[in-house]
Amino acid sequence: MNTHSLHHSGISRREFLKFCTTTASLLALPPSMIPQIAQALQNAPRQSVIWLSFQECTACTESLLRTYTPATVDKLLFHLISLDYHHTLQAAAGHAAEQALAAAVKANYGKYLVIVDGSIPVGNPGYSTIAGISNKDMLLEVAKGAKAVIASGTCASYGGLPHAHPNPTGAVPIQELIRDKPVVNVPGCPPVPGSLASVIVYYLTFQKLPHLDSLKRPLPFFGQNIHNHCARLHFYEDKKFAKSFDDRGAKQGWCLLKLGCKGPLTYNACATLKWNGGVSSPIEAGHGCLGCSEPDFWDAGSFYKALPEGLHHRHRHGEGRGMGNGMGNRMGGRMGNGMGPGGGRMNGGGNRHRHGRDQEE
Ligand code: SF4
Repeated sequence: MNTHSLHHSGISRREFLKFCTTTASLLALPPSMIPQIAQALQNAPRQSVIWLSFQECTACTESLLRTYTPATVDKLLFHLISLDYHHTLQAAAGHAAEQALAAAVKANYGKYLVIVDGSIPVGNPGYSTIAGISNKDMLLEVAKGAKAVIASGTCASYGGLPHAHPNPTGAVPIQELIRDKPVVNVPGCPPVPGSLASVIVYYLTFQKLPHLDSLKRPLPFFGQNIHNHCARLHFYEDKKFAKSFDDRGAKQGWCLLKLGCKGPLTYNACATLKWNGGVSSPIEAGHGCLGCSEPDFWDAGSFYKALPEGLHHRHRHGEGRGMGNGMGNRMGGRMGNGMGPGGGRMNGGGNRHRHGRDQEE
């Protein structure tokens, strides 16, 4: 993507550099890396991407497409990559679509990136097929020629809603089937679009994936919990909790912990990257975090049941991490399967008033 093509795409040099600067910042790279990113993106051939959609709701794609300023992510991203096949977005249908997939695989075999949204049903190959091919067979066949696989969203990362108890289709995440390629998980229901876009830009710049945590999530976006960056954190520290969605505390923006917020156990960038071009996030809009980027969040009990006192305090001190680390057990949910990676990096959200009474409405 050279300056000429940028201009023809309606993207100014200023916008492009802003995109590079924002991406470097999102990835926690030093400013000195910005020229390298800009140079790499300008000189690199457009990266071939094949996007497969399996058991999903299309929100992952919608999320990316609904991204806009300040980084003009969608606009720029689709000039950095060649989206050679996308189940949902492509105009082709029927045999033409399958020919397009075969052609995309053949043209860039060994060089393309595969992005997957949705889980794979392995209970029966007939539960989900495309052109008569089971999701599992299609994934394995296409992934053979991939440099890396990006699981977009919670379904592809951990199984998501299809994987929830009793998991009638035997849904599994991508990482359970792809063992011989680099896999990165960008969970979220849907994922924060800036995270996915930045992972792609990182790959285009450095030809490798960013550092991952033990759940294969990119650390720049999943290294901190939502609670630590929450706009309501000072209310939490002052023990000012909303007790209903329409009480005085809720209207004044108090902490949503008592209304079921899972922010202390959820690792994602919602509070920093936000949504709709950085305008807001679910918690800022008045609803507690559901924990949608953690494994098995659907089975972790009620979205509106408050975390046990000991659990969110414990996490403030960095003892354990993630909803899979036992929230299901403590909340009477079905999860509690130990998927959470214990020994978290969380550094606490402040200890003021820890022993005081909760502020009530
Ligand atoms: S519990 Fe939820 S609403 Fe309260 S400070 Fe933490 S993340 Fe924000």
